[in-house]
Amino acid sequence: MSSTARTIAPTAWPEGVIARYLTVGGAHVDITYMCNALTPPEPYATLANCTGCPDSSEHSHYRMVWGLTAQREERVPEAADKDAREWAQAHAETCRALPRPTA
Ligand SMILES: [Zn+2]
Repeated sequence: MSSTARTIAPTAWPEGVIARYLTVGGAHVDITYMCNALTPPEPYATLANCTGCPDSSEHSHYRMVWGLTAQREERVPEAADKDAREWAQAHAETCRALPRPTA
């Protein structure tokens, strides 16, 4: 590391952000859990949201699993997290939208 290396000042993450990806445009893709009144305090989905453009991707924690005679709902938050992180990573690599100035 040279002394001229630019350090990125750590900024406070918004409440609830569990992961953050830096886009090539300098914006962020934030990953948060989405909660609603039906399933408190369990989140029902993992959301990846770009701060530079309107793109976002919601990944439900619930998946329908088909049995022989009926389908049932299965809660798989880990799979939703993985999908959200993959979307965030892919989006961060291609999004060139600049973050909106906050001041
Ligand atoms: Zn974007």
